[in-house]
Amino acid sequence: MAAHSVRLKTLGAETLCGADQPVLDAFLRENVWLPHGCAQGTCGSCKLRVIEGEVDHGAAPEFTLTTDERAEGLALACQARPRSDLLVEPLADIADDGVVRHPLRDVVGTVAELTDIARGTRRLVIDLDEPIPFTAGQYVELTVPGTELRRQYSMANPPSETSRLELHVRHTPGGAATDGWIFAGMAVGDRVDVRGPLGVFGVGRPQDEPAILIAGGTGLAPMKSIVLAALAEGLVPEIWLYHGGRTEADLYDGDVFRELEGRHPDFHYRPCLSEQEWDGASGLVTDVVLADFTSCKGMSAYLCGPPAMVEAGAKVLKRRRMAPRLIFKEEFTDTSDLLSPSTAEEERT
Ligand code: FAD
Repeated sequence: MAAHSVRLKTLGAETLCGADQPVLDAFLRENVWLPHGCAQGTCGSCKLRVIEGEVDHGAAPEFTLTTDERAEGLALACQARPRSDLLVEPLADIADDGVVRHPLRDVVGTVAELTDIARGTRRLVIDLDEPIPFTAGQYVELTVPGTELRRQYSMANPPSETSRLELHVRHTPGGAATDGWIFAGMAVGDRVDVRGPLGVFGVGRPQDEPAILIAGGTGLAPMKSIVLAALAEGLVPEIWLYHGGRTEADLYDGDVFRELEGRHPDFHYRPCLSEQEWDGASGLVTDVVLADFTSCKGMSAYLCGPPAMVEAGAKVLKRRRMAPRLIFKEEFTDTSDLLSPSTAEEERT
């Protein structure tokens, strides 16, 4: 099928988009930055207005793009495929924010390491045939072999390492990528299709505000990348890293963070356990943050992990007077969240 021209109204940027290619994918490959989040239709942050032309909405779910919104000419850039030439405009601000962006690309890699590092958690290291430059906090998508399914995993290595990606993967029972592949047949030496970088989460330029980083489970992956980049490049004046798990079996890479803490007086590592008494912090990670800070005014925060934890963390920080615009969130949504947010929430509880 023929490609169509897609133009951004304000920036005037134009790209050719295949008939079966999402508009977001086409622009990111040209390194034309469009706001986005999960790239799977659940977050809605890539919503745009189709001013001229027709799109196929693909798998956009009703809860992120309602029938009324479709009728008004709105679309999700991560799902919309052109049916004609298009003139579009993202709803979110696309002004230059000073962050260096990197073009989206497809690269093949080889599994170099696959290690159990915590309960139901594996470290997956992939040597890439060609580098994927990225910003600390971004993610890549892996294609599940024999399918067209893509799954997102955040880089845990610093952006100074572009040819070897470290990913932290949590096992999801019944999950296509984890249960059926990464925790089943995957082995060192396997070839893997990788697409990236994607996402807007993370620290892409120096900031004046101290930062609280709150991670649940493998939400630690982008935090590790952020901490390593921020400490190496002096991006953040002071960092508190919180990692929440149920018991000690859920924690990992504590040695890495304790070693960094010893070398950097402005970095603080706080692992928290919700279901085990120990000599560290006890309770839900969000409650520990609430108890540790009487005010978060003038600070920023990065939250990553299960959606419920991320939302609880954001509420706690607002209670402590952190400005909402300085709270950055990455929710590890999965296929169950695509069914509908409420169904997914019921399944999680
Ligand atoms: P899926 O196949 O997606 O299944 C998930 C659940 O839904 C399972 O319980 C499955 O049984 C159920 N399900 C699937 N299809 C149906 C259906 N039709 N009807 C009913 N139930 C169904 N995870 C990490 O561990 N580490 C990371 O660094 C990470 N980074 C991420 C970054 C982003 C931006 C996002 C959005 C997600 C990230 N995730 C991360 C989550 C990850 O991408 C996967 O969603 C997760 O690994 C599960 O994938 P899966 O294929 O194993 O499960």
